[in-house]
Amino acid sequence: MKDPKIMSQEHPIDLFLRPNSFEGFIGQRQCIENLKIFLKAAQHRKEPLDHVLLHGPPGLGKTTLAHLIAKSCESRLKITSAPVLMKTGDLAALLTGLQKQDVLFIDEIHRLPISVEETLYSAMEDRRLDIILGDGPHAQSMRLTLEPFTLIGATTRIGLLSTPLKDRFGITLALGFYTAAEMEAIILQGAQMLKMVLTPEACSVIAVRARETPRIGLRLLRRIRDFGDAWNRSLIDESLVLQALSALGINSLGLDGLDQRYLVALGCLFQGGPVGIETLSATLSETKDTLEDVVEPYLLQKGLIQRTPRGRAITSSGQEALSLCQSLSQ
Ligand code: ADP
Repeated sequence: MKDPKIMSQEHPIDLFLRPNSFEGFIGQRQCIENLKIFLKAAQHRKEPLDHVLLHGPPGLGKTTLAHLIAKSCESRLKITSAPVLMKTGDLAALLTGLQKQDVLFIDEIHRLPISVEETLYSAMEDRRLDIILGDGPHAQSMRLTLEPFTLIGATTRIGLLSTPLKDRFGITLALGFYTAAEMEAIILQGAQMLKMVLTPEACSVIAVRARETPRIGLRLLRRIRDFGDAWNRSLIDESLVLQALSALGINSLGLDGLDQRYLVALGCLFQGGPVGIETLSATLSETKDTLEDVVEPYLLQKGLIQRTPRGRAITSSGQEALSLCQSLSQ
């Protein structure tokens, strides 16, 4: 029977577009080079790879890397996410079900409840699981030995991870945003997989508007394919891409509807800030997590906003971007 805690939230198209070798994984050069060394060394010693912590904004390739690591170790990959591991028993069931050399991927690992996190410590360190059966005076503790395994934790918020958990990962890899050239290569690779014919200009427009993030670039590519199919155009050129992006509300800076609403709220409603994240979240009717995980990393990276001790503030580049958003929407 399939364990409900083992899950894949991946869209079938994401799986389809996922590179299945390190050669197809574009960019993040230093990370990949280091990872290949660690993988080779572990294989040489016939040991499981040390536990790996992957961190960076959503859509930059953390899950993809977990697949590639498991494939390279010829191991099974079990995928789960911290929000479904609410009880110690959930984690215990998962860990005791692992076979020798399995790779366990826990997404959003910063969201593990502390009791579950503490159970993970001895599992990671000594492959030991201490569980308490029953409660009250009849409670009994039991110690189980686990098979050698590799844990891959992924997080968009490294700052929320406790030090004891962070310290138990032997390998930490930070994924950064992609350059324009890397984004173009990713779009081109995706277009080939989707059997789309793109002009080089069309490819670079998509790359520039993809917020330096592969998932966004590939999502735009799929939507542009819809426009191409609907308009019966087999060649995707720059003018088709521009029409499609404008219909999708993506402006020339790659800012989507929510980014633009964020800048308008910060720049106009709150006169540029500083304003607290809770206030912004209430104003935009979006969760604080969505703003912090999805919207802000790119705006910060582009220097459009600043995080100050008193809250978020717009920068002069942010004011310019805001004027552009407003002029385009008129
Ligand atoms: P994350 O787990 O960090 O949210 P994913 O690994 O799910 O991101 O990646 C999102 C999509 O982008 C997937 O379809 C994946 O194939 C693609 N992708 C991510 N990074 C790369 C890369 N470096 N090269 C090619 N495709 C990538």
